[in-house]
Amino acid sequence: MPKKTKDEVKALKEQLFAQNRHAAQRMDELELQTCNKFCEDYKAFMNTAKTEREINAFVIDELQKQGYQEFQPGMKLHPGDKIYLNNRGKAVIMATIGTADIREGVRLCAAHIDSPRLDMKQHPLYENQEIGYFKTHYYGGIKKYQWTTVPLSLHGVIVKKDGSKVTVRIGEDEEDPVFYITDLLPHLADEQMRRTAPQIIKGEELNIVIGSMPFKSDNGNELVKLALMKLLNEKYGITEEDFLSAELEAVPAYKAKDVGFDRSLIGAYGHDDKVCSYPAFRASLSVTAPEHTSVVILTDKEETGSDGNTGLKSSYLKYFLCDLAECFSANGRAVMSASKCLSADVNAGFDPTFPEVLERNNCAYLNHGVCVTKFTGARGKSGTSDASAEFVGEVRRILDDGGVIWQTGELGRVDLGGGGTVAAYIANLDIDTIDIGVPVLSMHAPYELVAKTDVWAAYRAFKVFLES
Ligand code: MN
Ligand code: MN
Repeated sequence: MPKKTKDEVKALKEQLFAQNRHAAQRMDELELQTCNKFCEDYKAFMNTAKTEREINAFVIDELQKQGYQEFQPGMKLHPGDKIYLNNRGKAVIMATIGTADIREGVRLCAAHIDSPRLDMKQHPLYENQEIGYFKTHYYGGIKKYQWTTVPLSLHGVIVKKDGSKVTVRIGEDEEDPVFYITDLLPHLADEQMRRTAPQIIKGEELNIVIGSMPFKSDNGNELVKLALMKLLNEKYGITEEDFLSAELEAVPAYKAKDVGFDRSLIGAYGHDDKVCSYPAFRASLSVTAPEHTSVVILTDKEETGSDGNTGLKSSYLKYFLCDLAECFSANGRAVMSASKCLSADVNAGFDPTFPEVLERNNCAYLNHGVCVTKFTGARGKSGTSDASAEFVGEVRRILDDGGVIWQTGELGRVDLGGGGTVAAYIANLDIDTIDIGVPVLSMHAPYELVAKTDVWAAYRAFKVFLES
């Protein structure tokens, strides 16, 4: 057999090997510009809406402007109609009616809009040595030590006894004060530094400094607390008991910013999972006359395990799909069985500083596109819905035909940990479901990192899938 030339070997490799190139090598100048413009919108969104309630309000406001109608069971619907459902101000479903019979199923894209953070306890306010504090209870899986000594903002609602509601958002505007959790100075931290990492900062040490000026008086104690409560009463009309029925969340006060000399990356709080939910929302807006009815669901409570009536372990998605089916005199169960879903959530990007936690042939890389994950889970695929080869094949064809830059990878080396998403809960409704999402570095840290080309690839993937 004659020896092959270098060129022949190269050609044969191109034909037979899987391709995996940097997105920028595969995008033309025009697409790169469109990608950068999209990411400007994304950053503006990140600075406007930081919590599930704020995203819910932002999204519904935009949906109404774009002509989406609030869904009512039994309403008459026609191809091209756009509807939405507001689940308790914390989750939202939006849909565009397709030209095909609803019995052929819907194209679903699900992402979550809650992110790890610090929630205030129901008795949050106290004073210690003339400093005023809020007690917190962390939400989601965090490295607690990362949340000290960073500027924090406060978001949420306080519901008074009469049912009226006060919205709180302080620490985001340039003139606003911020809040702060202290850490020990290194000079005196010998003992603390010997604690194991989960204990370096303990849950009960995540106390937020909120003030230090006493109420002017010659006698009495808790005068700092009194002065703070007086301020809060003047600003929000509340008394201490109103905290009982409040949901206040402290999040990093950082703005989303370009990272790097080349501005190719974005640093922000809460990319997980706004970096999927924002593109999914935008994809929904862009879909006008799909064949299959397209549905985007932005859910709450993913970070605490999806329980509760705004999380995807509850029945609100099922109820919506059944009610939607009934509008067409169809059987909800049959519609679900014929439906297909992208479960859009972030994945761990390969971090060259910590290479040992990922397996290099099966992990996501920054700037290599949106990452499709056949299965999640821990140990022996525990807790995964594991998409079928047939469905992976279908998604692969849809993404390739749509010119989407994508890759495949799993979250971490086998037996090193793992994690789950909402995919399993949607698949349990008998819906073909697969995980897809943007690779993130420093996931769940106060400031996370993503690559712009991957954000764009996520939007492209959701759009072509919703239109398939
Ligand atoms: Mn997530
Ligand atoms: Mn997460």
